[in-house]
Amino acid sequence: MSKEFDDLDEVNTEGEIEKKEDNDDEYEDICFVCRRPESIAGKMFHLPHDICVCSDCMQKSIEMANTMDFGDFPGMETGSLSKEEFEKFQKQFPGMGFINMSDPYAKNGVPKKQKLKKKKTGEKKQPLIDIKSIPVPHKIKAKLDDYVVGQEQAKKIISVAVYNHYKRVATNTMDEIEIEKSNILMIGPTGCGKTHLVKTLAKLLDVPLAIADATSLTEAGYIGDDIESVVSKLLAAAGNDVEKAETGIIFVDEIDKIAKKQNTNSRDVSGESVQQGMLKLLEGAEVEVPVGANSKNAMVPMTTVNTRNILFICGGAFPGLEEIIKQRLSKQSGIGFNADLKDRFDKEKNILSKVLVEDIKKFGMIPEFVGRLPIICSLEGLSKEALVKILKEPKNAILKQYQKLLELDEVKLEFEEDALEAIAERALERDTGARALRAIIEEFMLDIMYEIPKDDNIGTVTITRAYIEGTGGPGIGIRGTASLPDKSEH
Ligand code: ADP
Repeated sequence: MSKEFDDLDEVNTEGEIEKKEDNDDEYEDICFVCRRPESIAGKMFHLPHDICVCSDCMQKSIEMANTMDFGDFPGMETGSLSKEEFEKFQKQFPGMGFINMSDPYAKNGVPKKQKLKKKKTGEKKQPLIDIKSIPVPHKIKAKLDDYVVGQEQAKKIISVAVYNHYKRVATNTMDEIEIEKSNILMIGPTGCGKTHLVKTLAKLLDVPLAIADATSLTEAGYIGDDIESVVSKLLAAAGNDVEKAETGIIFVDEIDKIAKKQNTNSRDVSGESVQQGMLKLLEGAEVEVPVGANSKNAMVPMTTVNTRNILFICGGAFPGLEEIIKQRLSKQSGIGFNADLKDRFDKEKNILSKVLVEDIKKFGMIPEFVGRLPIICSLEGLSKEALVKILKEPKNAILKQYQKLLELDEVKLEFEEDALEAIAERALERDTGARALRAIIEEFMLDIMYEIPKDDNIGTVTITRAYIEGTGGPGIGIRGTASLPDKSEH
């Protein structure tokens, strides 16, 4: 786990784990013919163009070659080897000419994507997660605060859950006193920061992250992705390093879309059965996953990943859940359905925070599934004030990004507070949370980014409410009369 908490400035990019160029020695070779990795098939013969063949396949090909007539096999002429290379190769491996070297696949060799990272050997194995370096919850939360606006309760719950999860992984005390796995269920309206929170968390902890969409998952054998494909995504994010993947995070978005279908007679291959299928993954199981591909087929090598230490976070908007909670609350108050009472709950702002397991079950999640997500946290819909903060406060806030861009042209970009409110108001109308902010800003920044570089005299640009609302232009300051950008701000 990373201690370099201060180098986390690009969390808001796509959040993907940056894959450094891995050293080739850390990868297993895979047999070009039977697709088995070195750890299963044994030592490999290394042929030109990075092609490896296991001794079984080599033996078979030699036997086959001995019974074949190689008189004028076309691959010999079209091959990409020089004459000398080819002769040397032929002496070394008589009969191997039947691999057509002009095949672009053969020319490029086996892609690294399909190679597995070798299991580390040696006595002093450095644990991937060291219990001493797990940041304590308040530190995780403080770091989340730099990037995620509001959602205080959710950030707190997640910091503690993640801390406990990695403590459990690091101490591995599963056998004696079993610490339960702290998979998390996140409930909140669209665009309120669920994915953003998870991406930030994975980046802070320096663990691989896979983001999957529950709507694309179906029961094995049906059109769509197998449930296990989420594990293979994680393996890819971990650079095909099984050990690293086994301590990563899997975020399954739109989990509410796999609720039990009500009143249906047809087989429910994408709802309840996906929940059923996910049970063993959530709990911890050995899964066979394809390496470097999403689906299993004969051409793809397989490996086993244990999901016991993988943290699963499921997120969804759960439309209609608020009503279920309100109904329960009004029933609990003992008066049954009462208009006044219902109004009282209608006015209550953060009704989602009162969610209980029974509400989620009523929504359509099966009890076994909810039982495997013991931590439930709810996120609030973002208010106008929160949206304004998102515009300017996070370390990589959108405004800061535009200011930096214009600073490169030595132009200072300023936003009037009133203009920020106007942007937030327009975003609220779209009802997609903070997601709308970037789209709105891009609309009006286009003209600015187009016009400003035309005129060298412009020193400052001030975005006003009138400009956002289309009733006026931005404020322009001429260089020399306006102050130049203060570089220390960034
Ligand atoms: P969802 O809840 O639907 O998963 P996202 O996390 O994808 O929403 O949010 C969309 C974008 O909005 C994010 O990329 C992020 O930039 C911004 N955003 C949303 N909520 C917040 C927040 N609370 N703090 C900072 N940025 C946020």
